[in-house]
Amino acid sequence: EEKTDFSKIREDFHVLSQQVKGNPLVYLDNAASSQMPACVADRMDNYHRNEHANVHRGIHTLSQEATDAYELARKRVKEFINAEHEEEIVYTTGTTDGINLVAHSFGARFIEEGDEILISEIEHHANIVPWQIIAKQKGAKVVVVPVNDAGELIWEEYLDKLNEDTAIVAMGHVSNALGTVHPVKKMIEAAHEKDIPVLLDGAQAVPHSPVDVQELDVDFYAFSAHKMCGPTGFGILYGKKKYLEEMPPYRSGGDMIDKVSFEETTFNVIPHKFEAGTPPIVAGVGFAETIDYLNGIGMKNIAAYEQKLLKYGTEQLLSIDGLRIIGTAEEKASVLSFVFDDIHATDIGTILDQQGIAIRTGHHCAQPAMRRFNVPATARASISFYNNREDIDRLVEGIKKAKTIF
Ligand code: PMP
Repeated sequence: EEKTDFSKIREDFHVLSQQVKGNPLVYLDNAASSQMPACVADRMDNYHRNEHANVHRGIHTLSQEATDAYELARKRVKEFINAEHEEEIVYTTGTTDGINLVAHSFGARFIEEGDEILISEIEHHANIVPWQIIAKQKGAKVVVVPVNDAGELIWEEYLDKLNEDTAIVAMGHVSNALGTVHPVKKMIEAAHEKDIPVLLDGAQAVPHSPVDVQELDVDFYAFSAHKMCGPTGFGILYGKKKYLEEMPPYRSGGDMIDKVSFEETTFNVIPHKFEAGTPPIVAGVGFAETIDYLNGIGMKNIAAYEQKLLKYGTEQLLSIDGLRIIGTAEEKASVLSFVFDDIHATDIGTILDQQGIAIRTGHHCAQPAMRRFNVPATARASISFYNNREDIDRLVEGIKKAKTIF
């Protein structure tokens, strides 16, 4: 049975009941990192206290049990994103790590001189820089699809830039800077018509709505545990078997091998071929629990609840004189990025912090997106399912107070 009383859900997050600077905390920095429910913290604590051993190597019971607890996350993730095979779930340290893996390993095998890598104008730096580096190594080129004034991908430009030289399309599913949800299903269809594989940066999508990798038919999908109420230092790269099997190892050492001699080394099967060394075991154990927790609420319920809250937040923010929302796409998730012409985002963030309200200010690791909208920075409030209307009301009050100061 799903837990759908969202007012009760807040009790699972003890961090939210504290005072900051003499005020009850309002946490609206979920796009940077979301909070962890007690059950996940407890699971990880118990692992540390009572269950720890290294994984994948031990004949002894503790090691075998630790391996089972760690590998449980792979089963849970497979179901959570509806992958066809468990070995398509590669453990990483986060979205950044997953995209680097694909850029370098897929790049080594499949990107050639003169090829193009297609990204959008509003990508996170994690989905820009790894491609620039591999492009430079290979003599390939990063090609950028622009967005319109609402922050939506310009469809004709996308179609126009897909061509026989495109080696891969690498796009955000949801923009962390603007909240835009890209039309990923039709983007993938259009790319596949030309036999071009697609990687999606799902860091801001998986926490906010159900994702089905088979339904999308996406080739690679990267995300981070810490943005979906799980631990830091852990993430997932989903990759279609047909690609992962062809791709060379990215990092090497223990665990990722089959046989090693000084003459020749053969590699382990997927996904282990991509998982060298002792992994963040406790984070994997915690992530399995995180997915159970999210399933207990239901991603559909989370999406519906957050969409209502996002709509409320948008209306309330727009009622503030002089406030401009950056990112007004038809389809959005979680993110409310805004500016004032006469108050710097940093000042807004500072005044809000004094009232116990946590938001993000800056370029959000998306400098080209800021440039597109001619702003140096934005203030960004990003919601999760444990936020409520009161949080939005406090935010609005806080901004109004900042306006009286500047
Ligand atoms: N892509 C997007 C869209 C993000 O929002 C983030 C985190 N801000 C990342 C990639 C990088 O995630 P991580 O830092 O967990 O690797």
